[in-house]
Amino acid sequence: MESCIERIKNDIENVTRITATPNMGCTRFSYSKEDSEVREYLIKEMKDLGLSIKVDGVGNIRAKYIDNNEDKPSIMMGSHIDTVANGGKFDGLTGVVTALEVIRVIKENNVKINNPIELIAFAEEEGSNFGSTMVGSKILTGAYKLEDLKKIKNDDGISAYQVMKDFGLDVDNVENEVLKKEEVKAMVELHVEQGGILDSEQISIGIVQAIVGMKTYKVKLKGVSNHAGSTPMYLRKDPMVGAAEIIIHMEKAAKEKALKDTVATVGKIHCQPNGSNVIPGQIEFNVDIRDVETEGMEIVARELISKTKEVAEKRGLEYKVDLIGESECVKLSSKLINIIEDTALENKYNFIKMNSGAVHDSAMLPGITDVGMIFVPSINGLSHCPQELTKFEDIKLGCDLLLKTVIKLANE
Ligand SMILES: [Zn+2]
Repeated sequence: MESCIERIKNDIENVTRITATPNMGCTRFSYSKEDSEVREYLIKEMKDLGLSIKVDGVGNIRAKYIDNNEDKPSIMMGSHIDTVANGGKFDGLTGVVTALEVIRVIKENNVKINNPIELIAFAEEEGSNFGSTMVGSKILTGAYKLEDLKKIKNDDGISAYQVMKDFGLDVDNVENEVLKKEEVKAMVELHVEQGGILDSEQISIGIVQAIVGMKTYKVKLKGVSNHAGSTPMYLRKDPMVGAAEIIIHMEKAAKEKALKDTVATVGKIHCQPNGSNVIPGQIEFNVDIRDVETEGMEIVARELISKTKEVAEKRGLEYKVDLIGESECVKLSSKLINIIEDTALENKYNFIKMNSGAVHDSAMLPGITDVGMIFVPSINGLSHCPQELTKFEDIKLGCDLLLKTVIKLANE
């Protein structure tokens, strides 16, 4: 018993034809005209399978395949249906159409299942509308409340609450629809890797063990702006060279002092006044630190704070280091990792166990249920761009692994 590559391909092609930016990638924001059309397509496919369908107040579609087992907790699978601006065909959607295919195969083969199988298509994962990611899964799991939807706004200043209401959703009801532990037995999300590990090693499947956590710091260094010609080197208080010292130290801290998977990046820097013949007066830069172990992030964070103090004192600079954002690292369920791994071994799939450097909807669910994730390769590691590509052969393998895993979970 296996999935049908043609049906998967057909679903992906049909959905990606609906885009706000033809010939410039997929742009399918939640609550847009394109989103309505895609929902119509997917809901028709779900109805054809006889699923019982519910759309919650934030727009998550939940569709259940029930076989005389209505009262038992579901085996959940799925991903998100929205995209970034000018994104790719495979991010999110791959997890939704493979979940749909799994139910098709279970139904057409009359596979016996003891738990309902539930497909979830999350809304507003990318943060494209309101700058806040995973709004659908945060609402589903109760991490966001109704009040939060009134606070976050789109570029036109309209609240998420209002946008959802205008889209026809019963948004006032969201707090009554929070996923309960007794409703769900496990969640498995299939997603494209969005990195280059699987592709570079020519491996079709990644079994995710953990999703990285993140700490973002903003560093401000203030010196004295002055003439680049007439100020001798010994009279300078130059925050740019101070920043350079700290940035080099961040690379060293992540590589040599922290843990195996710790990474640190300075990708944003702001210099005042930013003139080629002026010693800068002030430098601001962000440090993005990630790891699957909190300890790894903390080591780099401590290094950042102590090095900044040392450099600022040595160079006579004023300084400030602020934590401006953070998310916890998430360990996925060892039970699910084992089941997925055993299934991959039994079927001789080419796989590795790995971590996810990107955050996904599933990262919100471990407090509620056992969570597992299956990755399929992103060619050249590209994602969030029109060049994003995953081979349909690999998606089919991932779908077969999802299918076999779900059937096992539904019959334990
Ligand atoms: Zn995604």
